[in-house]
Amino acid sequence: MSPAQPKPGEILVFLIRRDTVCAECGRELYHNSMITLEKERGALCLECADLDHLEFLPSGDAALTRRAVKHSQLKAVVVQFSRARRRYERQGVLIEPEALERAEAECLEDAERRERQRERRRIRDADADQRYIATFAERILELFPNCPSTEARAIAARACRKHSGRVGRSAAAKVFDPQAIRLAVTAAVRHRYTDYDERLLAGCDRHQARQMVQPVVQQQLNNWSAAETARPPDAP
Ligand SMILES: [Zn+2]
Repeated sequence: MSPAQPKPGEILVFLIRRDTVCAECGRELYHNSMITLEKERGALCLECADLDHLEFLPSGDAALTRRAVKHSQLKAVVVQFSRARRRYERQGVLIEPEALERAEAECLEDAERRERQRERRRIRDADADQRYIATFAERILELFPNCPSTEARAIAARACRKHSGRVGRSAAAKVFDPQAIRLAVTAAVRHRYTDYDERLLAGCDRHQARQMVQPVVQQQLNNWSAAETARPPDAP
């Protein structure tokens, strides 16, 4: 986001990092003061910019911010430059005090309704997880038709837990590609149908343990694959 390109009608206010002076009244403005920047005049304090009657609402409460901004005729977006991320970041908004009061009242009124909405969202997300697991299990059964469906579902559930935190839903397609499915199934077989875990616990080197159980893993994968579509052994 460039501070030079506010949305139409949007006033930008900057939380400054370096001390400066108001170009109009000459007041000293210290670190974390709010200013506007005008092309001709430079930094202006909020009094000189005629914004000092507005109230600062920090970012964090999305519903309150959305409502307060909607009710406020005059409003400004407050940004600060992040040195670490090298970009301007939104800190909050300046809005008319009456707009904030109205927004707070509205949020109090329907707090319960919004809690129910959040609950519905949680349920929707859980449904999405269930669909993901079902799709993953179907793919497993396409590649390994003789794999018991309860087994396929258990493997899919495990893969879902593993991925839900790390890849977004948009990346799910990638997770469903045959290679990813094969890896998930291979790992599951290794853990459930061999003594791989015991070997690890006994202090066996991971690479070596994999090699030792590989014939058992491959045998199980072959059993689960349809005879006519049996594939050459995959590397562990
Ligand atoms: Zn001033």
